[in-house]
Amino acid sequence: MSVVLVVNSGSSSFKYQLIEVTGSRTLASGLVERIGAAEGRAVHKVPAGDASGGASESERVLPIPDHTAGFQVMLDAFAANGPSLEEFAPVAVGHRVVQGGARFFEPTVVTDLVKINIDELSALAPLHNPANLQGIEAAQRAFPDVPHVAVFDTAFHQTMPPAAYTYAIDRELAAKHRVRRYGFHGTSHRFVSRAAAEFLGRPVEELRLIVLHLGNGASACAVSGGRSVETSMGMTPLEGLVMGTRSGDVDPAVLLHLQRRAGLTADDVDDLLNKRSGILGLSGHGDLRDVEAAMADGDEAATLALEVYAHRIRSYVGAYAAQLGRVDAIAFTAGVGENSALVRSWALAGLEGFGVELDPARNEGPERGPRRISTDASRTAVLVIPTNEELEIARQTVAVIEA
Ligand code: ADP
Repeated sequence: MSVVLVVNSGSSSFKYQLIEVTGSRTLASGLVERIGAAEGRAVHKVPAGDASGGASESERVLPIPDHTAGFQVMLDAFAANGPSLEEFAPVAVGHRVVQGGARFFEPTVVTDLVKINIDELSALAPLHNPANLQGIEAAQRAFPDVPHVAVFDTAFHQTMPPAAYTYAIDRELAAKHRVRRYGFHGTSHRFVSRAAAEFLGRPVEELRLIVLHLGNGASACAVSGGRSVETSMGMTPLEGLVMGTRSGDVDPAVLLHLQRRAGLTADDVDDLLNKRSGILGLSGHGDLRDVEAAMADGDEAATLALEVYAHRIRSYVGAYAAQLGRVDAIAFTAGVGENSALVRSWALAGLEGFGVELDPARNEGPERGPRRISTDASRTAVLVIPTNEELEIARQTVAVIEA
């Protein structure tokens, strides 16, 4: 039995899951949030199962001054509510790290040098890497005797060819400032591409797939033979598909126009494109469920928002089909991809001539697990594959420490 604690740390919160990797079982999960605020909050959930007996959920509200205190609160929650960390002792802690740059192309055991490198890559991910590093250091204090492994969001995309990751700008300037496409959501794209192959009963090495990760953030990935060859997010997670609050692709000159003509500063444009655009900017709602409800009530802005969202996905599917030369399957995943039959049907509307044929009854059916939503005759299989980034981090962590 290999038990791994998976940690996803933000600047004022972290999420965790204790996972038994061999059986793909979550033994406990939780969230510690509002770290540094007057009142912090910690939620600890234990699913029903042999680790504990019945399912339980506990919540505490208390001041949590920093991440180190947060991990103590987490340890207290395990002690009070189970499962026992003596019985289910983690063999390692796996950490999600957002930006691994061109340096990290696989999960890596955390050493002092690795921490220096993660810190140094903060220049490319100023909101994420420092927070990820804070979580690593606090977790190392809480679990000093086991290896800690960094699993990078960018690593899966390090197999992209230069033609896919190079921006057509001045080479020297780009190299000096490490301006290139890195891609994100790699852990999810890797997990889903393998789960799709498993569902189809074929080796991933034989398959050409398009994975559509549609959550609050959204990205598409072309996967050939199990390797990422192209993805829609770029140097940052802003590029590509329309997202909950991010614009995705815009003409870069729009930024200059807004700075010169609308008096916006660079920070204003950053805030606009990352936090006030996308589905939210177009419809006034950040959650896609609310946009669908507004559309059902006849709201035209909501309808247009969904049309723009689906149109962009379809454009990427076409582009990636051309890059791959053949598409064996398209897999939808994450909150929107797993749940919105409307987005799935709009995104793939009119592609019958390319061998993509949805089955409306399957698409709208109530099933939740991995499933096929295309007709049996569809040349390209269309699948819904629930993602599980924590399980993927746990698996990769075990693979690294056993290597
Ligand atoms: P994150 O990217 O934060 O991990 P998720 O993958 O959980 O997010 O996706 C969250 C989004 O999924 C929500 O903003 C919501 O718009 C969307 N979503 C969840 N359930 C549904 C549903 N039943 N129908 C449409 N959209 C949904």
